[in-house]
Amino acid sequence: MIGEPETTGDGTIPGDLLVVRSRDELGRALARAPRPLGLVPTMGWLHAGHRSLIARARAECATVAVSIFVNPRQFGDPADLDRYPRAEARDLAICAEEGVDLAWAPAVEDVYPPGFDTQVSVGALSRPLEGAARPGHFDGVTTVVAVLFGLVRPDRAYFGMKDAQQLRVIARMATDLALTTVVPCPTVREPDGLAMSSRNVHLSPAERAAAPVIHRALAAGRARWAAGERDAEAIRAAVRRVVEAEPLARLEYVSLADDATLAELDRTDGPALLSLAARLGSTRLIDNLVLG
Ligand code: AMP
Repeated sequence: MIGEPETTGDGTIPGDLLVVRSRDELGRALARAPRPLGLVPTMGWLHAGHRSLIARARAECATVAVSIFVNPRQFGDPADLDRYPRAEARDLAICAEEGVDLAWAPAVEDVYPPGFDTQVSVGALSRPLEGAARPGHFDGVTTVVAVLFGLVRPDRAYFGMKDAQQLRVIARMATDLALTTVVPCPTVREPDGLAMSSRNVHLSPAERAAAPVIHRALAAGRARWAAGERDAEAIRAAVRRVVEAEPLARLEYVSLADDATLAELDRTDGPALLSLAARLGSTRLIDNLVLG
């Protein structure tokens, strides 16, 4: 606990959780926060995936901070930003339940004050896959995470393997700029295999019923690999076949890449990242598995 509990927007008092918004309030809270401090950056609409990151931070750190900020700079499409789900009171209640000490829910101007004119870009790791599909996306991600790290100065920062490329890009930045230790956390899934995601809320009942095809397809690729297949294109083709058999799913890409460099592979002789992006209706979902 850092200080006196504050009331949230809806007037409830969530245990020992301190809720701050401005850079000044954040700075004052951090000045009295015991170390080590773990940061869990989120865009809100918290689910069991976020809870698992918080639980890991809680187990390892004296202070756990969660940021809740839907970062406009990482959305290429303004409509996608507008419809990103938001539920702050519920998110703060979840933070309180999970024993979070400090929730930072800034406004856009608190993160990007007037005159803000810096962009942080990671090189080769940010270019393929999601970087190619969503131009500018990772520059938005690394810029906001650099600001979060600069303001919070976490000893450790927790990121999900669900966003495999994001995790690698941020780990690269954190190492190169000597910012913090990045802790990778396993993907949390629904019982039917669908990776938890804030975006799942947009799926219609029929799309939700079809969505486990994403994990099923990746698992089919992994099964080929486990049976001894090392030809990368054969594994990608096995994944593609499963997704293409689902009429509600539209495949964007299937990748089998070197786990460290994210370069597409001809053969999988070392650790590899099997990943895909697909649309169900208007909802774009990504998922991955590591082979080896
Ligand atoms: P987001 O709020 O979607 O930006 O995600 C915030 C953090 O939670 C990121 O590090 C994500 O990788 C992580 N995350 C999102 N979904 C999951 C999941 N299903 N399992 C584990 N971590 C997740």
